Amino acid sequence: MIFLDNASTTQVYDDTLEVYCKYSKELFFNPSAPYKCANDIKSTIDKATKDILKFLNGEANSKLIYTSCATESNNTVLLNQLNKRYKKILISIGEHSSIYNLMQEVKNKGYEIQTINLTKDGTVDIEDFKNKMDNEVGLVSIMHVSNETGAINPIKELVKIAKSINPNCIFHCDGVQAMCKIKVDLKDLGVDMYTFSGHKIHAPKGIAGLYTKIDIHPYLIGGGQQSSLRAGTENVSGIMALHYAIVNTDIDSNFKKVSELFDYVCTTLSGREGIKINTNNNSSHYIVSISLSGVNGATVVNMLDECGICIGTGSACSTKKAGNTTLNAMGISSSNILGSIRVSFCEKNTIEEVKEFCDKLLEVYDKLKKMLGKK
Ligand code: PLP
Repeated sequence: MIFLDNASTTQVYDDTLEVYCKYSKELFFNPSAPYKCANDIKSTIDKATKDILKFLNGEANSKLIYTSCATESNNTVLLNQLNKRYKKILISIGEHSSIYNLMQEVKNKGYEIQTINLTKDGTVDIEDFKNKMDNEVGLVSIMHVSNETGAINPIKELVKIAKSINPNCIFHCDGVQAMCKIKVDLKDLGVDMYTFSGHKIHAPKGIAGLYTKIDIHPYLIGGGQQSSLRAGTENVSGIMALHYAIVNTDIDSNFKKVSELFDYVCTTLSGREGIKINTNNNSSHYIVSISLSGVNGATVVNMLDECGICIGTGSACSTKKAGNTTLNAMGISSSNILGSIRVSFCEKNTIEEVKEFCDKLLEVYDKLKKMLGKK
């Protein structure tokens, strides 16, 4: 099987799995228990947290809260905003559904939500952001890297603009597709909160993080774990596997590997009749959004699946409303949105795999066009 859908999830590597098993089997103790072996686990988690904050260059007084998934981290950010003085929230139109869909609920509670447009390269439109940002905005949430196109947003610049207009506003960034893929320096970015997820970076599902510089209102209340910021017995195995996956990531070396795959796909497919690459070279090289005019992206995905190749539908999938809005906001035609697919790499993918993907994709596209009488 050729797996080119790494933006949706990734494989857990053997050594990470060993760490997971060690903390499930040998060192399975509850960190809140009163005996030494449990206290040792608590210290191990504290040390892991310090390492992750160092990896991200977090601020001195910042906290890292472990959650079950990035959806929980993102929801926590938004729900934390309720009952605050400022009633206005800005998000980009391309945010993941864990932000975008919750906004509808937040709106019903009397908040004003404004969405920032995208430019045709898929990044946030800075002029639109400047126009909509005012001193009544209490929360800005803008993703670091688009899960649809790989476009990288200029977070540092956006934070500067937001804080110059309302120094009290909270800036949250969903870094799920950036974490361990591009260098993330939270101090330099200046964000107040940052979300990431384990299963996108070769750690197990069920563990994610929320970095925060500000005090948050707890979403889960119970036994006072994680300094009462998120109650519930810590997912020790998940935390330790997440820590292992993060500290063992070689961002530069991985970038080099996936760039070769990215370049191959882009050069092989661009310029072909009916094919449009929606991702540009300044984007994350882990994701390529491709439009195949005149066909349905979901059909292409199914046909490639039959050939043993797993890729994602881009925005054509009706369950991904936010995805539709991303390509739409970039000014991509409805035919190209319907025919969009998303390919996403990891450092273990090979050039042979992407060659086979390109060959099969061209074959499938030709076949579909003939079937539909378009050639
Ligand atoms: N944010 C972004 C940008 C994502 O790509 C995803 C998952 O695709 C999420 C949030 C949600 O992640 P999780 O599956 O950990 O809830």
